[in-house]
Amino acid sequence: MKRLQALTFDLDDTLWDNRGVMQRTEHGHYAWLSQCLDAWQQTQGGEPLQLAERLGLADYQSRRLQLAQTHALRRGDFTWLRERALAEQLQTLKLPRSSAIMWAAAAMDEFRRLRLEVTPHPEVAPLLACLGQRFKLAAITNGNIHLARLPFASHFNVMIAAGEMLAPKPDPRPFLAALARMGVAPSAALHVGDSWCDDVLPAQRLGMQVAWIAPLQAPPLRLPSGVHRLAHVSDLPALIERLAPMSRSGVTTTDPGAATRYPPLPA
Ligand SMILES: [Mg+2]
Repeated sequence: MKRLQALTFDLDDTLWDNRGVMQRTEHGHYAWLSQCLDAWQQTQGGEPLQLAERLGLADYQSRRLQLAQTHALRRGDFTWLRERALAEQLQTLKLPRSSAIMWAAAAMDEFRRLRLEVTPHPEVAPLLACLGQRFKLAAITNGNIHLARLPFASHFNVMIAAGEMLAPKPDPRPFLAALARMGVAPSAALHVGDSWCDDVLPAQRLGMQVAWIAPLQAPPLRLPSGVHRLAHVSDLPALIERLAPMSRSGVTTTDPGAATRYPPLPA
């Protein structure tokens, strides 16, 4: 392995627990659209559309799946799929096309607002600040969170929404794009992520080191060369201390017990 120069990070379920946020966002922006649209219809002297009652989330989700199958290149561009599916639903309820497009876009603004209500693990901000002093940092996500509005966005040299570049992980292109923009070879980089299929395998195949933030229920696995299993992102400093020891990296651990659990490798 070359000297470690860069780290790339998955976001959802790596830097925060994503489950509650997605559920609140899914229900929240849809309820907002249904209610606000009916209130607006009433001000216009029209009948309420009753979107949630007449079509509902299941139909919305089904249309997204259908669109993803029909437009395979867009399958990872979740913002496009959602906005298009909402506009389709509204036109099905006989809202004029221009209004449907406008209301679908407004609902996605609400989606983006709710999607940002993530709670990063408390170690994340100081960890990124510390690592950023030594390494180039990139974020690579399949999600559609508004990257530039993340509270710690300034720590990343590069941020890539892989779905919006029509190459969601495990496609290697978002990894290669991040590494190219940082000017770092794969063998000098470590990817940090929770998904075996979308993070571990593609990064490992490119020759990157990988820190796998293994889900609690993940069974014991024989790990490929260069893959390191961690329970939590807070264990990352200890791994980096093994790969790029403190005396060279200048990285300090946020976990006082970490050095004991992950003693430096012998020279
Ligand atoms: Mg993830």
